[in-house]
Amino acid sequence: MVRRGASPVYGTGNHTAKGYIALNRLEEILAFNQKFVEGHEYEQYRTSKFPDKKLIILSCMDTRLTDLLPRAMNLKNGDAKFIKNAGAVISHPFGSTMRSILVAAYELGAEEVCVIGHYGCGMGSINPEAMFERMAEHGISRATIEMLEHAGIDLHTWFKRIESIPDSVRETVRTIRNHPLVPKTLTVHGLVMDPETGRLDLVVNGYESD
Ligand SMILES: [Zn+2]
Repeated sequence: MVRRGASPVYGTGNHTAKGYIALNRLEEILAFNQKFVEGHEYEQYRTSKFPDKKLIILSCMDTRLTDLLPRAMNLKNGDAKFIKNAGAVISHPFGSTMRSILVAAYELGAEEVCVIGHYGCGMGSINPEAMFERMAEHGISRATIEMLEHAGIDLHTWFKRIESIPDSVRETVRTIRNHPLVPKTLTVHGLVMDPETGRLDLVVNGYESD
């Protein structure tokens, strides 16, 4: 059996040839973490659980946005609630993304939401059939896929490609605004980010549109 995460981490100085111990990813994280805490490096990030800018950011999990997005928007630790998923979408009006928005609005004082999609999103080129083939390579049979679909779980729709990122952002903004539990005082904006430069294109101005 393959030990998960057992591959050595290269390029970080942990190579055995140099006399270091080869660490797997988890060990590397835990070793770094111990030093981080012992060195009190957390002090610069101290803040409260309440978003200082009363802002919720719903964005994509794309790795290019991890640091770029908050820096391009002048958001530091403590300024906003970040909710991320593949494509910056709300798949279900009573799923965990929508619940997070409601908790941020009612419990944590958030007053505005920015839904931020981005150009070149992986969800814009996803292909359910290709994904099912990759699942088959990992031992998940076609019969399992078909069984789930027969049980009413529409996997083709769940893994559906986003055809237009701006349209998807508009749709997500509408879903939030029209949600029966969302307060009318919550302002919802829609934007699309360039993952190279951080430039934001405005799709929905929540102060203007209804
Ligand atoms: Zn994306």
